[in-house]
Amino acid sequence: MENSLKKKIEEMKDWLIEIRRTIHMHPELGFEEVETSKLVAQWLEKFGLQVTKGVAKTGVVGLLEGKQPGKTVAIRADMDALPMDEARPVPYASKIKGKMHACGHDAHVAILLGVARFFSSMADQVKGNIKWVFQPAEEGGGGGRVMVEEGVLENPRVDAIFGSHVFPLLAVGKIGVYEREGLAATDSFTIRIIGKGGHGAFPHLCKDPVLAAGHLITQIHSIVSRNINPLESGVITLGKISGGTASNIIPDEVELVGTVRSLTPEVQEELKNRIEGAARGVAQSFGMDYRYDFQYGYPVLINDPEMSKLVARACAKGVGKENIEWIKPAMGGEDFSYYLQRIPGAFFRLGNRNEAKGTVHPYHSSLFDIDEDILPLGVEMFVRVIDEYLGLGLAD
Ligand SMILES: [Zn+2]
Ligand SMILES: [Zn+2]
Repeated sequence: MENSLKKKIEEMKDWLIEIRRTIHMHPELGFEEVETSKLVAQWLEKFGLQVTKGVAKTGVVGLLEGKQPGKTVAIRADMDALPMDEARPVPYASKIKGKMHACGHDAHVAILLGVARFFSSMADQVKGNIKWVFQPAEEGGGGGRVMVEEGVLENPRVDAIFGSHVFPLLAVGKIGVYEREGLAATDSFTIRIIGKGGHGAFPHLCKDPVLAAGHLITQIHSIVSRNINPLESGVITLGKISGGTASNIIPDEVELVGTVRSLTPEVQEELKNRIEGAARGVAQSFGMDYRYDFQYGYPVLINDPEMSKLVARACAKGVGKENIEWIKPAMGGEDFSYYLQRIPGAFFRLGNRNEAKGTVHPYHSSLFDIDEDILPLGVEMFVRVIDEYLGLGLAD
């Protein structure tokens, strides 16, 4: 069985590449994945799965009910591209100006379709159910949250869910697994410092919010270093400051916008409160007013440690124990966290770094690309994870 598993997947390679390239050439942004989801639904229907379209607007769900009773496992891919131009001169480069698959979601879709193709031909050997979740809008739109709200984890109730992301920091052939925390909560905030504008030559008649903003920037950057346990993680970045119109005008207001990253609710609340404390204190010391708005983003992504071990065990059967890496959390975000808030599961990384093929660029770079060898490898990893979870005995 073991050999035929690898062989059966390897035989799909050209087909996987074709699907990936079709999607890559026609990138669509979050909640606009109309053609991509059509392509997904067509293949799932061809494979004889039960298909639900229009979940979370453009999401697609496939269901394979096994012939024997058992648990229900789900796997998930994101489908959206990014608003940017592609710079790599490849024959399958984006045909749509201003849109590009620069995060590898095209590969995620192709890989999940490969898993569907694999299992569709052997439904009689499946104990339990397998659900395919193709979601829209991972890049900031929170498509995962909407999928969960629209009941993707019900009917039948999903017992565990697995997701993967291509990973430019890990060599092709390696699999990265988070033990628990994988990615950060991605919150954001806006502060308005409200002073009193006037002529730049008469500061004593004004309240200068630009100066107050300068103080506030340094205060905010001392929050993590002086309030958070050095063994915990937190990031605050002020990404945008706006205020003023000319050299000789003191503006009425300055606005500061930032992002806040954390791996625990304690650090998250501490940072949220400390930022407001700094704004309040600085505004008060200058006799000014302020407004503070904190927006919660994607929650922290937390793997179930048992499911992480299951992924490591299952994938090791394909790539060898030496190619499983337990990786540290990073402060990026991922809306797969919404599924993991509800049910156990694990998110893992598919190494994509290949110097010879030039797949070394970071996510969201105009030069980002994948090594297409990871398409069959990704299918194999998901097949093995499902096999291990449902206890099918395919890889034994
Ligand atoms: Zn991305
Ligand atoms: Zn991504």
